[in-house]
Amino acid sequence: MAAPSWNAIEGRPRRAAPTVRLVLRCGSWFNRAMKQIRILTIGILLFVTSVTSALAQAPMTVAVDAGEAARNIVHTKLRIPVKPGPLTLFYPKWIPGEHSPTGPINNMIGLKLTADGKPLAWQRDDVEMFAFHCEIPQGVTFLDVAFDDASQPESTASAKLARIKWNRLLVYTQGMNSDAITVKASLKLPAGWRFASALPIINESNGELQFKEVSLTQLVDSPAIIGAHFHKFPLTSTGIMNEVDAVADTTSALEMKPETLTGLKRMDAEAAALFGARHYRSYKFLVTLSDHGGSEGLEHHESSEDGVGERAFTEELELLDFAELMGHEYAHSWNGKYRRPAGLATPDFEQPMRAELLWVYEGLTQYLGKVLPARSGLWTAEDFRDAMAAVAAQMENQSGREWRPLVDTAVAVQFTYPSERAWMNYRRRVDYYDEGSLVWLDADVLIRTRSNGKLSLDDFCHRFHGGQDSAPALKTYTFDDVVNTLNEVMPYDWRSFLNARVNAINPHAPVGGITNGGWKLVYTDKPNTQIRIGDHARKSIDLTFSLGVLLKEDGTVMDVNPNLVAYKAGIAPGMKIVSVNGRGWSSELLQEAIASSRNSTTPIEVVVENGSFRETYKLNYHGGARYPHLERDSTKPDVMGEVIKSRAR
Ligand SMILES: [Zn+2]
Repeated sequence: MAAPSWNAIEGRPRRAAPTVRLVLRCGSWFNRAMKQIRILTIGILLFVTSVTSALAQAPMTVAVDAGEAARNIVHTKLRIPVKPGPLTLFYPKWIPGEHSPTGPINNMIGLKLTADGKPLAWQRDDVEMFAFHCEIPQGVTFLDVAFDDASQPESTASAKLARIKWNRLLVYTQGMNSDAITVKASLKLPAGWRFASALPIINESNGELQFKEVSLTQLVDSPAIIGAHFHKFPLTSTGIMNEVDAVADTTSALEMKPETLTGLKRMDAEAAALFGARHYRSYKFLVTLSDHGGSEGLEHHESSEDGVGERAFTEELELLDFAELMGHEYAHSWNGKYRRPAGLATPDFEQPMRAELLWVYEGLTQYLGKVLPARSGLWTAEDFRDAMAAVAAQMENQSGREWRPLVDTAVAVQFTYPSERAWMNYRRRVDYYDEGSLVWLDADVLIRTRSNGKLSLDDFCHRFHGGQDSAPALKTYTFDDVVNTLNEVMPYDWRSFLNARVNAINPHAPVGGITNGGWKLVYTDKPNTQIRIGDHARKSIDLTFSLGVLLKEDGTVMDVNPNLVAYKAGIAPGMKIVSVNGRGWSSELLQEAIASSRNSTTPIEVVVENGSFRETYKLNYHGGARYPHLERDSTKPDVMGEVIKSRAR
């Protein structure tokens, strides 16, 4: 996931001021009028500048007490500079990186306003429910605001750790640009807990941290992790200091294998080689390891929130998944934070975001999130191929592609991201991630093939995301900018290439990167590693490519493909398989029945519960177990193999 302006700290405006060119076509009256307008404009600009700098000189303070974080409640006290008269406070609604109005407003409880020590009445706006109106009395220059952030249990905190998200712990003056608001934050920790954040600290004593004054944009982009068990893993030893900071439910969960640490160090070097420049001062992976602290993957410019399971450093499948998460979130520092679609670069946390370019923001990141672990040795070449095979097969079997273009899964992100698993195959969900990664593999292989291996998508990344090393900065782009940069790398009809894959309804997945890259998508009875990772994480049985059904381990149907056997027999999401061929449910029984279906002429018979009713269905399937893999096509060079060759070594 992911998305705010850092440029205030660089002393530069968030976005370049619009240039208005006036063409004078008329006589002298017009010139005089324009002169008057210019004088008036300069006056207004001077006035706005003086107001902005007056406000910028008075920081708001945010004092967070996380002493009870383990109980899923965090207390906050704000002091906001104000003037007498009507004031509207705004709770951050559109969250960068989440691309949606996901600010958890209903978790903001216990709101109290105080002016000069006296309670002040507030009223929520009856249309914009993230806004609170009040009237500041004469003579008052600061407003005190207090409330609690009460999180859903097991979403951001466990008994031993928590992720502290500043946007959930503040309100600000509605209408102000988040770059123009300066904030002094402090954080009180539970006794004995440790802490990590990209936010610069100026003082630390008795478990209380005082942070350097920063813009509201930077504050929200610099969350903290806190926890009872902490370990820092440096990734660099000279120059820019990058690190993995991890908190966990137990100390043993923090034991990272030496080869994992070596791989993460290599990944840091591979990312630097891929993009050619860095746009941060230092970078921290903020990892929380807990089976009760919620999963997370949220990008920031100089850090990422990486919420994984307690065994992410040790269990085989979770470690492979962790490597991809690290690659994905790190790539976002360039692709998402530094370079961001113009529609996602909003000036505050109130303006709606437009997400039609998420197939670049997330799709390219999804691709690089697989390429970087493979180049670093955190994944084998086969892990990479299994991942691309799983994505290709899943997208090819996504029945919703018959009615919905890929771009619509991005435009509708407010609905697609949180949508239910039931009917996902027919609805499509956030396919801009996975299908986006196929589009970028396709482009990469095309560039490599047509340039006889001299050029690659790395050259696009160098031009688009590289340049000079810098502190965090934001450079927005449009569809045309993507097309133009691709054309600078290698002239081609990139507009048509992208329109056909992104904006048109396309009954088939864009698998050209695989087929032109020297490989074929095949199905065998050997389990696919990525599908095993998915089943392990959600406790599911993925039979998408055989019966066309995804089940929970207890037989409950999570999703069906309407074009395949299970749906055609009468099965739908929410039903539950309770027996297989006359015997009580077990996943092994069903897997055995599928495996032996190849040599059988009789259908698999299942009894299925729909509410309190039971019905028997016959699954006329004879294809055996089916999982996607890539098989070498020796008639073509192995271009996919070139994609994952180390660039840094
Ligand atoms: Zn992402």
